Amino acid sequence: MEVIEKAPAKINLSLDVLQKREDGYHELEMVMTSIDLADRVTLKTIADNQISIRSNNGFLPLDQRNHAYKAALLIKETFGIQLGVDIVIEKKIPIAAGLAGGSSDAAATLRGLNQLWDLGLTLEELAVLGAEIGSDVPYCVYGGSAFATGRGEKIEPLDEIPQCWVVLVKPKKGISTGTVFSALAYDTIEHPDTQAMLAAIKTQNYNKMTQYAGNALEKTSIIRQPAIETIKQKMLQFGADTALMSGSGPTIFALCRKYSRAQRVYNGLKGFCNEVYLVRTLK
Ligand code: ATP
Repeated sequence: MEVIEKAPAKINLSLDVLQKREDGYHELEMVMTSIDLADRVTLKTIADNQISIRSNNGFLPLDQRNHAYKAALLIKETFGIQLGVDIVIEKKIPIAAGLAGGSSDAAATLRGLNQLWDLGLTLEELAVLGAEIGSDVPYCVYGGSAFATGRGEKIEPLDEIPQCWVVLVKPKKGISTGTVFSALAYDTIEHPDTQAMLAAIKTQNYNKMTQYAGNALEKTSIIRQPAIETIKQKMLQFGADTALMSGSGPTIFALCRKYSRAQRVYNGLKGFCNEVYLVRTLK
């Protein structure tokens, strides 16, 4: 038997950094939503007690550094499972892009093994396990739209957001999340209005949702990679309703209510950057 799980990317409609905690993590408030750009994770039980990973992406680590491997090991150790698993990751989400690709593969592995090995765990229980792998994994266990607090691991599922088109541009050079957080200057942070974003989603107000989209890390990432600002401005010039960096970057996304606008942004940016995607938000 094999189980196939879709592992969607996320974008941050809002990301705020409240403070640095004593344990070294940052206290965050994030509004996230899944998009229809996804990896596909296929899991199959194998007789020998091993975890094997294969992928179409040659840049992905295939050993214990892979987040999907960590998820499988955690399940095996927590429940004393003596079986092995063959994991195939068909990678579509750009790596180190601020789209939580690795976390989503880990979450898909947790959900998939729960099914494959008949563990009967709830999403809440899988999310608690996921927090041991990384701060974005609990959100990815649920997917959809959610409000994340703490270091990102406390999840409150939200109503569906007003659906729209998303154009993503991944600049060539990646940015590591750690570098961005350590370069963050607290006194100059531009805090987004998280409560206004939550209210916009609650009232299904698309215009307000685009108005209150904001990311406290954006300025810091732009200093390291000025191309982020250039791409953002181009998206707005081509008619995006809003344009914003996702996570710690460097991916920038544009939201467009109308498909014709999204196509214009997509075509405009395609002439300028290599990695451009046009997808929908996921319900
Ligand atoms: P986040 O938004 O959670 O910070 P990200 O999109 O910026 O995540 P990832 O694509 O998850 O970043 O990759 C971050 C690092 O994790 C890379 O250095 C990559 O080599 C490693 N990694 C381990 N497993 C995976 C995986 N399954 N998919 C992608 N990257 C992985």
